[in-house]
Amino acid sequence: MSARRRITDLSPAELSAFASAQHQRPFRGQQIYDWVMGRGVCTTSAMSDLSKPLREALDAEFDCSAPRVLWSGDSASGTEKAFLQLSDAQGDGVEAVLIMEGERTTACISSQAGCPVACVFCASGVLGLRRNLTRGEILDQFIAVRERAQALGRRVSNIVVMGMGEPMLNYSAVVEALDVIHDPKGGGIGARHITISTVGLEKGVRRLTEEGKPYTLAFSLHAPNDELRRKLVPFAAAMDIDAMVQAAGAYLDGTGREVTFEYVLLDGVNASAADAHELAQRLRGVRGTVNLIPYNENPGFTWKRPPAQQVDQFAEILRSGGVKVSVRKRKGHRILAACGQLRLQEMQRAQ
Ligand code: SF4
Repeated sequence: MSARRRITDLSPAELSAFASAQHQRPFRGQQIYDWVMGRGVCTTSAMSDLSKPLREALDAEFDCSAPRVLWSGDSASGTEKAFLQLSDAQGDGVEAVLIMEGERTTACISSQAGCPVACVFCASGVLGLRRNLTRGEILDQFIAVRERAQALGRRVSNIVVMGMGEPMLNYSAVVEALDVIHDPKGGGIGARHITISTVGLEKGVRRLTEEGKPYTLAFSLHAPNDELRRKLVPFAAAMDIDAMVQAAGAYLDGTGREVTFEYVLLDGVNASAADAHELAQRLRGVRGTVNLIPYNENPGFTWKRPPAQQVDQFAEILRSGGVKVSVRKRKGHRILAACGQLRLQEMQRAQ
């Protein structure tokens, strides 16, 4: 990692302390925060209401450069994908995705560079974990995607931490970044429109529940039983489905928020009518929504997406069993928008 902290890593309190140390009034800290998080400006030369000595001191102490961002746009599918290069890793970086659907504009951001979980169908797990992202590197993604959305005449309405990585393994940085994204003077995104997705790591889930943060919690389920789930999600043993269902109830009690269960549909693996019946049985009476995600086929993997008719049938069986369901529309397949695919492609290009 770069020896200097990124300017996006600093809270308003830290920026005020820095300003005071430079013999400036503490409110200068809030001004810097407004530039960085409110307007997305990291380069100090643009911070016109700050004195030259303060701008020079910021440059000397922190990394105030704008991150290098490569965009892969696909206006036909309403999805644009960013690859943000990390300052410490030649050719490596993280992904963020902008998904535009009707009135909704969602930014999907990453919590780690790579991922240690290694779900069998996911490109992010292929190269393992490089490292946790800092709070600033998570916010850099938000800033980049927000700017892109603005250029397209849109406003980011939703945030999902569903990109590369397992957020609960980088809890503090993720939650601090989300608090900034939620802050009216930061990103200004309502808590109900912010989602954290996890494979189910008990310690992190409990902490989020106890802290009572009103963010939406999404569990990566992907199977109707623990046996199959452990084959698809190597970390699944950390929390079995019963524990997940129990945690969902505790989360609702603690935060007033219903959880979401993410379910990637893989043809011939977990997408049959029998799987749907088993899942409906398992989730009967649980307050939450199953989000069905027909698999995004990837050249490096042999998994297949089930036919649309089968997806509809799966959803219908769940509904008939009293389970709330949503189905993710096909977005981003033309630009490899599924998790980790673009990073893999960029790294292969750099080798
Ligand atoms: S799906 Fe999520 S948890 Fe699984 S390997 Fe990919 S990034 Fe990690």
